[in-house]
Amino acid sequence: MAAVRIATRTDSFVERAERLFPGGVNSPVRAFRAVGRTPLVLSRGFGAHVWDVDDRQYIDYIGAWGPAILGHGNPRVVEAVVTAAREGFALGATHPLEIELGELIAAAMPSLERLRFTSSGTEAVMSAIRVARAATGRDLIVKFAGGYHGHSDGLLVEAGSGVVTHAIPGSAGVPAATAAQTIVLPYNDPTSVTRAFAANRARIAAIVVEPVAANVGVIEPAQGFLEHLRETASAEGALLVFDEVITGFRVGYGGAQARYGVRPDLTTLGKIIGGGMPIGAYGGRADLMDGVAPAGPVYQAGTLSGHPLSMAAGIATLAELQPTRYAALESTADALATGLRQAAAAADRQVAISRVGSLLTVFFRPDLPTDATEAMTADRTAFSRFFGAMLDRGVLLPPSQFEAWFVSMAHGRAQIDATLAAASQAFLA
Ligand code: PMP
Repeated sequence: MAAVRIATRTDSFVERAERLFPGGVNSPVRAFRAVGRTPLVLSRGFGAHVWDVDDRQYIDYIGAWGPAILGHGNPRVVEAVVTAAREGFALGATHPLEIELGELIAAAMPSLERLRFTSSGTEAVMSAIRVARAATGRDLIVKFAGGYHGHSDGLLVEAGSGVVTHAIPGSAGVPAATAAQTIVLPYNDPTSVTRAFAANRARIAAIVVEPVAANVGVIEPAQGFLEHLRETASAEGALLVFDEVITGFRVGYGGAQARYGVRPDLTTLGKIIGGGMPIGAYGGRADLMDGVAPAGPVYQAGTLSGHPLSMAAGIATLAELQPTRYAALESTADALATGLRQAAAAADRQVAISRVGSLLTVFFRPDLPTDATEAMTADRTAFSRFFGAMLDRGVLLPPSQFEAWFVSMAHGRAQIDATLAAASQAFLA
């Protein structure tokens, strides 16, 4: 007798979502198309776990795509948000919480002499680039293939994250003239950077880079690569923009700039600094940031910028991020990576596991990629099988070979052991 599949609450929500939203989602990475599964509809998260609308529990490695470094629903963060909400949401003027969070960020990252809050990472990067163009009087931007910097026109060229997952070569709707302002180079290739500057003397405004590439899977910068970007930008009168939307407060309290000891001119932030509420920020050298309106002629604004609830969540989150907790987080992530390597070896499965701090990717290829082209050769079919087998065992991974797993401070021994037990079977799938 054929098995009868009982319709679930998930099925019903997915059906309704597909009628409403393009592809059934409000952000492409939430679709499970690349892994051939029905997308999850999640209604609840606490600590290292999330629950779907059918009350199935998962160990979560999506981590809200980065913000959830403390895990979900941290009681102190929740309390801070509730307290702020009682005071009236956005008030349309400067709020003390903006100053408090701004000071915490500037203290953590001394390169941010001044900063401004936005409502998303996309806005932050778009605005930082506007500042760089205004300051240098130049139009061209260098980015790296597979780097994702939000969905503003010029930065969608050969971008990572959902763009690469859904095999979109470059977004439709971006004017050719805009795309032509973006020079795309291979990550970790200093020679190509030198050549691009030689070929475009005094025309490049900025290099924008994820200091740890995390949107084609995790790729660590090669020794000397970030230093080369710093030296080249300085020598050529261009600016170095670190997009730390993922890495800020993730690979360490001071972000990648502290971890690798390279000081950018401008930095973009998002995710963790808002503790799960909508946020972005950009900042850097005072002389550059003083170009921003109303101090200067570079216009940028936002009705909900510096939203008190986002500020409150960010302050409460940063307060929890003590150095000892990063050390513990790093060893949790290391135990996970080591265990995954052993599980893959035991299953005779060739994978390469890349880890920087609590960011991790299991690449289904024999060795670690150094750039997007290499990452793209990973076996997506094998990843999809692994993903599905993990999901069926209650472990939720980002639904793409080309995304980072986000380990949180709420993941403990029990979750890691359960993940590894699932992986030992899933690598055989
Ligand atoms: N930069 C990087 C490095 C990102 O990973 C992202 C989003 N994942 C963004 C910018 C855009 O941020 P948002 O989605 O908040 O617009």
